Amino acid sequence: MKTAITGGAGFIGGHLVEHLLAQGDEVSVLDNFSTGRIENLQGVLDHPRFHLTEGNILDKVAVENLVQGADRVFHLAAAVGVTLIVDHPLESLRTNIHGTEVVLDAALNSGASLLLASTSEIYGKNVSDSLDEESDRILGSALKSRWTYAAAKGIDEAFAYSYWHEFGLRVAIVRLFNTVGPRQTGRYGMVVPRLIKQALASEPLTVYGDGLQTRCFSFVGDIVPAITRISAEPSAYGNAFNLGGSYEISILSLAQRIVELLDSSSEIIFVPYEQAYAAGFEDMRRRVPNNSKSRALVGFDPKTTLDEIILSVADEQRRSTAPEPASRKVEVASN
Ligand code: UDP
Repeated sequence: MKTAITGGAGFIGGHLVEHLLAQGDEVSVLDNFSTGRIENLQGVLDHPRFHLTEGNILDKVAVENLVQGADRVFHLAAAVGVTLIVDHPLESLRTNIHGTEVVLDAALNSGASLLLASTSEIYGKNVSDSLDEESDRILGSALKSRWTYAAAKGIDEAFAYSYWHEFGLRVAIVRLFNTVGPRQTGRYGMVVPRLIKQALASEPLTVYGDGLQTRCFSFVGDIVPAITRISAEPSAYGNAFNLGGSYEISILSLAQRIVELLDSSSEIIFVPYEQAYAAGFEDMRRRVPNNSKSRALVGFDPKTTLDEIILSVADEQRRSTAPEPASRKVEVASN
């Protein structure tokens, strides 16, 4: 199978590339290396069935070249990470809305099927015990940049549904809930790699707010096979599927568990949100997925425990503290 991936040098993208190559796919990646990193592809750069192009999803010709001849497309490219979105809302809006439209058009014109990566952020401040795909979205003020990501991804989904309904584009959507694992960087906010890095360096673990906000972390090694199976299911077209962890934990408890498990001498400190992000920043207090729909479709049943996740991320961080720069075999899109 010929598979094209936008954002394939991202944290999830790199794991997806490895998974698809192991399945026998021919894999082509387009990434502009804004948040993507060549290190995420280090193990596959010389693989004979792997092709990498450096370019932007706003560049129609680059996207058309990527998608041409592909059987399916995974659209992972996005401006992600709360820090990035708060600091650069315009870039996030342009990439996440216009970029997605470019990818949808290219898939439609080439006849490829499409898997769109969406996010649990779209549920916003809905603190339900069990967010299912029909749950309401509760977003804060349109004047707050934090919500622009959720707004943009909601529009992406609306575009995808419309392409399915009006043009018959075979497109499925996955909503990812706090996917974590080795090679994720904490640079753009993500809490698990950040706290683990702090614990390994014996620095204070920075817990934002009161630390009682909760999340359900899922392991990239559980998510990637599920995404792949959903992409191969015709009954998934025109539909969205939650993919998240099943264990809810507060950020304070997460920090405590990391310190304990890694036997760290770090203390835990509380950092006010306005100091961590910006004045008026609003967090989500809780985000708990209902995975029934993805379980029914592809048997999604995340097995990796939080302790296993923490240990695998810590192990990878220890090994990559002084990374060798990877040799780059990258084509640069000429447009
Ligand atoms: N967070 C934290 N310390 C950090 C980074 C993040 O306490 O150093 C908090 C953040 O405010 C949020 C939670 O951890 O409540 C998850 O943050 P992340 O950015 O990983 O994901 P998201 O907010 O998108 O769920």
